[in-house]
Amino acid sequence: MRSEDLFKESQNFLPGGVDSPVRAFKPYPFFAQKGKGSKLEDVDGNNYIDYCLGYGPLILGHAPKKVIADVTSQIHSGTTYGVPTEKEIELAKLVVKKVPCAEMVRFVNSGTEATMAAIRLARGFTEKNKIVKFEGSYHGAHDYVLVKSGSGAACLPDSLGVPTETTKNTLSTPFNDEEAVVNLIENEGSDIAAIIMEPVMGNVGCIEPEENYLNFLRKITTENDILLIFDEVITGFRLAEGGAQEYFGVTPDLITMGKIIGGGFPMGSFAGKKEIMEMIAPSGGVYQAGTFNGNPVSVTAGLSTLNQLDKKFYSKLNQKGQTLRDGIQNILDDNQFNLNLAGLCSMFQIYFNDQTVKSYSDAKKSDVDKFSVYFHELLKSGVFIAPSQFECGFLSQAHSGEDLEKTIELIGDALKKSME
Ligand SMILES: *Cc1c(COP(=O)(O)O)cnc(C)c1O
Repeated sequence: MRSEDLFKESQNFLPGGVDSPVRAFKPYPFFAQKGKGSKLEDVDGNNYIDYCLGYGPLILGHAPKKVIADVTSQIHSGTTYGVPTEKEIELAKLVVKKVPCAEMVRFVNSGTEATMAAIRLARGFTEKNKIVKFEGSYHGAHDYVLVKSGSGAACLPDSLGVPTETTKNTLSTPFNDEEAVVNLIENEGSDIAAIIMEPVMGNVGCIEPEENYLNFLRKITTENDILLIFDEVITGFRLAEGGAQEYFGVTPDLITMGKIIGGGFPMGSFAGKKEIMEMIAPSGGVYQAGTFNGNPVSVTAGLSTLNQLDKKFYSKLNQKGQTLRDGIQNILDDNQFNLNLAGLCSMFQIYFNDQTVKSYSDAKKSDVDKFSVYFHELLKSGVFIAPSQFECGFLSQAHSGEDLEKTIELIGDALKKSME
């Protein structure tokens, strides 16, 4: 078993044997050899139908032909310049065309950088200090947002090394609870710069906003001179061409993007109204910079990917999601498994939980031991989903009808084992 040996060795050189914590699942993660389309192959010769898809970016599947060709051609002309390129304008124009709130765009290197900068921008623009996030939402690994959820009160750091001084301006509130937001704004409203949110929570499974919840947040933020930031690092270009804001018909002030926008390469981005975005350096006083910002390789991959996404693309992709979810629901019904199937468009998750999951505290009541059995059974049978109950599954264009049929059958088998 080469993966097992590699994991032993990697633990000597990489903390925990990995470069990002979620990857270190037990007893050891498989090491990737190669990806093609919907399939991922490991160094032990196993093949998986991949629903993790790099945690979301690979909406076209692994190694899509056109993207690889465009990127290869770009690499031969250089990989970073330190001066602007025409392709950055082209990609910015495409984002502006697709995303309702986007009038101007800045390209950075990750989702983490995007939310860090968007929060700084919101504070600079409003000249206020506090931000509100939702319990269980994830906005990357920087100090402002790396906090334990604590209702209403200022948040405590969720990591060693984060000063409480940094997180005391981060407030947290439960998702899908209007009254909690009303109270929070009543108490702290005059100093709240922004509410930052995942319009669909994708880092605690998959939780949709209740009917009118996003409209409510749009209205209350406008009334209180608070910026509304949609963190669409997952939902951007996933739910629709214009992301969750198009899908739900609610336009925020700022959007943060990542994952899909880099077409499988590292990139993040934030965008919004011109009057706000123009406060970013060098046109304004809110500092943001990066050696690899607007990197030509990532920008090329992003352009190549986004150019392939249109209405027809999403209706086909979402149909695949529906087929998968319908198949899973049938299994749940046929076996009288009282579990909660979540998901929309090309996202899905099964909560090992007999209650509807509307918030972080609901999600936390799920049976993670049963999930772990389900995950390992799937892995054994050749289906790779993210190894945590609190992640979400994704589909790509590359997933075939045959993949889905096989997956539904294997999910049935795995569920039966996990429910024994
Ligand atoms: C993944 C993610 C991030 C962080 O993006 P990175 O590129 O991993 O830094 C931020 N917000 C959301 C909603 C995400 O899913």
